Amino acid sequence: MSDHRASDHRLVASRFGGPEVIEAEPLADTPVAAGKVRVRHRAIGVNFIDTYHRTGLYPQPLPAPLGVEAAGVVEAIGAGVAGVAIGQRVAYMAAQPGAYATWADVDPAILVALPDAIDDETAAAVLLKGVTVQTLVHGCARMEAGQTALVHAAAGGVGRLMVPWLVAIGVRVIAHAGNADKAAIAHGLGADVALDCPYGELAAAVRAATGGEGVDVVFDGVGAASWEASLDSLRPRGLMVSFGNASGPVPPTSPLELTKRGSLFLTRPRAFDYVATGAEMDAAAADLFAMLEKGKLGVEIGLRLPLDQAADAHRALEGRRTTGSIVLLP
Ligand code: NDP
Repeated sequence: MSDHRASDHRLVASRFGGPEVIEAEPLADTPVAAGKVRVRHRAIGVNFIDTYHRTGLYPQPLPAPLGVEAAGVVEAIGAGVAGVAIGQRVAYMAAQPGAYATWADVDPAILVALPDAIDDETAAAVLLKGVTVQTLVHGCARMEAGQTALVHAAAGGVGRLMVPWLVAIGVRVIAHAGNADKAAIAHGLGADVALDCPYGELAAAVRAATGGEGVDVVFDGVGAASWEASLDSLRPRGLMVSFGNASGPVPPTSPLELTKRGSLFLTRPRAFDYVATGAEMDAAAADLFAMLEKGKLGVEIGLRLPLDQAADAHRALEGRRTTGSIVLLP
């Protein structure tokens, strides 16, 4: 049995385009499918990837569902599902969008049980972004104490969690952000150096901050605009972690660009590939929750809006006007 309400709905991109293409459509009163769990959402996380689904940068069939993470309670359980209880508090991050909704039917393998200490809004604010940080820092770049990293968009959703995470494990962080106020936030999070210069001046500033050497690793979610600056900021044999396209996708490039800067390494990771099983997801989430509970990470919800104002959330995110996480409330 589910608790369907006449007002239940989801948001979709009716066609690919700007925030104005986001529309509401009713959710049908259907029973939960076999093998799925119905989650009644209490808070929904907004992520930059939602804008890629909306614009068609990451294409899907239209009308395209939006949203890849939410927190809520288990409302109904499909046939064949074990280990989940009605009323249980859960959160999830899903490779398939559909979280901009009052409820969603999800694969139980991706559900994370929420500890009492993690409230719904916090979970929606940090699960995907924090698991991304955990996978990029440990699974992907395998950072160690004493190394140096450059972090772009350091006051943003992912950046605001990545800077203190790296600091907590003993990495020296050079942060970059789009203006002085955001750079000050990054500095307050423990970044050793926080820069807000144009990307054209960034590599020289990073070299100045590292005695001319360059950093061991760059974490770059900005994409096209920061690509050259990132490569030029690395030491020989350094690692470029290109994990997003906030300013647009990186144009095609030759492997010789890596050679000429000193045999660089390049990876283009996706968090979902590092938490591909339920066990990997649970381990990454447990690591994240432990960092929160130990006070190593602060949570900032820079913007809270009703679900139906998701278009405004997209405008703010794409306009570089947000810091921390954005949460939609159904
Ligand atoms: P953010 O809150 O970090 O917002 C994006 C930030 O990028 C902006 O605030 C801005 O910060 C910076 N930016 C620089 N240039 C532009 C531009 N032209 N337009 C818009 N923003 C720009 O978003 P999220 O935390 O949700 O995501 C950060 C990045 O991480 C995104 O690229 C996202 O796709 C990626 N990501 C990748 C994952 C993966 O698995 N690969 C998983 C999760 C996120 P500033 O003004 O300070 O430069």
